[in-house]
Amino acid sequence: MGLSFGVDWYPEQWDRSRWESDADRMRAFGVRTVRMMEFAWALVEPEPGRYDFSLFDEAIRVLADRGISVILGTPTATLPAWLALDPSGVLQTHPSGRVRDFGARREGCWNAPAYREASRRLVRAIAERYGKRPEVEGFQIDNELGHEGSDRCVCPHCAREWRAWLARRHGDVKALNEAWGTVFWGRTVSDFSQVPVPRIQPATRHNPALLLDYDRFLSDTATAFADEQVGILRAASDPGKWITTNLFPVPFSLSLDMEDVTGGMDFASWDNYPVWGEDEAPLPYFFQSFLMTYVRGLKEDKAFTVMEQMSGIQAHVCLGHLPPERQVALWTAQAVARGAERIVYFRWRTAAFAQEQLCYGLLDTDDRETERMRVLGDNLVRAREAFSDFASEPVESPACLVYSKDDARLLREQYLSLGLYHRANDWMQAGLDAELAKWFAPFVAFNVNADVKSVRSVDLDRYKLVSLPLYQMADPEFVERLAAWVDRGGVLVLSYRSGARDLSNRNVSEPLPGLFRALAGVRVPRFEALGKTKARLRVGNLPIPAGGEVWADILEPETARPVAVWSDRRKFYRGAPCVTVNTLGRGKVWYVGTSPDPAATFLLYRRILKSAGIDPRFAGTGVEIVDRRKADGSEVSVVLNHTPRRRRILGRALEPWGWTVVPKRG
Ligand SMILES: [Zn+2]
Repeated sequence: MGLSFGVDWYPEQWDRSRWESDADRMRAFGVRTVRMMEFAWALVEPEPGRYDFSLFDEAIRVLADRGISVILGTPTATLPAWLALDPSGVLQTHPSGRVRDFGARREGCWNAPAYREASRRLVRAIAERYGKRPEVEGFQIDNELGHEGSDRCVCPHCAREWRAWLARRHGDVKALNEAWGTVFWGRTVSDFSQVPVPRIQPATRHNPALLLDYDRFLSDTATAFADEQVGILRAASDPGKWITTNLFPVPFSLSLDMEDVTGGMDFASWDNYPVWGEDEAPLPYFFQSFLMTYVRGLKEDKAFTVMEQMSGIQAHVCLGHLPPERQVALWTAQAVARGAERIVYFRWRTAAFAQEQLCYGLLDTDDRETERMRVLGDNLVRAREAFSDFASEPVESPACLVYSKDDARLLREQYLSLGLYHRANDWMQAGLDAELAKWFAPFVAFNVNADVKSVRSVDLDRYKLVSLPLYQMADPEFVERLAAWVDRGGVLVLSYRSGARDLSNRNVSEPLPGLFRALAGVRVPRFEALGKTKARLRVGNLPIPAGGEVWADILEPETARPVAVWSDRRKFYRGAPCVTVNTLGRGKVWYVGTSPDPAATFLLYRRILKSAGIDPRFAGTGVEIVDRRKADGSEVSVVLNHTPRRRRILGRALEPWGWTVVPKRG
């Protein structure tokens, strides 16, 4: 398809007299796509069963007259008052026991029959009206499913469906008791109706195995909700219409398995906010690279869409850092480098009123051209020229970070170390997102293309190197496949806690790292959590200060060779190995018993990458290089300067926050 650009526009928020000039200016700005309608349920169905799409029909016509197509959102994330206040109860109950009110958003429970029925009717009406219209490019289902804690509900509808789900999963209540270990504290149940929904308790917590099953249940619920909409839209649409959904930026903080949620869709979409609200600085650039690579990995590496690319300073309540316009432009290039083929800027004009008054768009309410509009407009012309040849092509990677969704769910609740705990706000524990991004960072720092795949979808034979951090609940079948792949020459990187649990989340009955013991050639008899502190370690004989964070395994090598040892005078285990490497057949297994700090990462991954036959290409901090192959087979490198300084990289001068595309060397 090439590369395309759009904006998020809300015609219902602006006087009709502005529409034509808005559309003219969008065209001049360079966009050919507009996303709309994702929050307009109250407008298009003012009373139950009476639909009025006249405003959107007219807006679509105004855009189509200027050659601009639309992406239509199914507006099921914000319920009209008549539905939210339905006496059958559609409002979510948060695990804290608080019932959501009508008035914010994402307040509907996916298990509430009235909400589901009204959603089906609405989506059917949209599908029948727009499914064959040439002006409509595709559909976005709902909006940021699970966002703002809406993935968790414990209302009576959920309680009913939860118990039915448990009966399907476990068959009989004896099996449930066995799987969860309810003999502990005498939490044994004799009927599924006795199983609680996991409300937050005044003290102690529910059984981790119950919490894990509840997450799986919620994920299945969200998937069924999404699948239903996909099915209705497909049945009434031309085959050319695509269907996607825009994912919330921090995926591992949610119970939802986005591979399942997007399973029936054509590609995944994502909302890119590197800085939000009161943040004092943008997130590290490798964090965005990790998340975008994860999004691409959800759908067999198909190019993804950035459905909301922040354009200015944005918040709901409190503002913070203003990124320079050139840096916002750089984020467009970074997204395309990581596999996006469509960028939609949020939003066309700053809202004059209500909850998103502080979401500054391309235009402000005075309608004068802003500096960000000018810079992003110029960038768009350059990007179209530079990226169109490869934006839709697959990204080829010799390395892959593999994650387990179930372990992520488990670690969100039972987080093991304060180092894996990061409460970003009232409803988000993002410690694991940050940790997994840290394990992806070496690939970004050394400019090695890497994928992000789940345990269940990774094709090992595509990679020379696989990093498998925090894989606690080890699946014997997957471990066997890993062993065979290592034997054939694969290089595997394991982390602390590898193999500590079985698939029922029980502690394993053999020494750690459990099923990985022979592969890693090491034993982990002792460990401690480092929390937010750091312990010194030494890589080889290098006198370079380096450290471990989050966790400290005290290793006893069996067949493995020590690569790094603890060197911290404050620790009784000084001198014990913390990183080892084991040779097996034609491959190698690295065991990294801590979360390496930047210096340790640098020292270790130079060795790890080389052991897999991959050249580390460090080009300085703040420099990111991604290799891409064009349709004609030639290769290029996208070079991104994430610093406020002029840099010279691969023989090219780059402005502060600048980017370029050069033919790949060697
Ligand atoms: Zn519910």
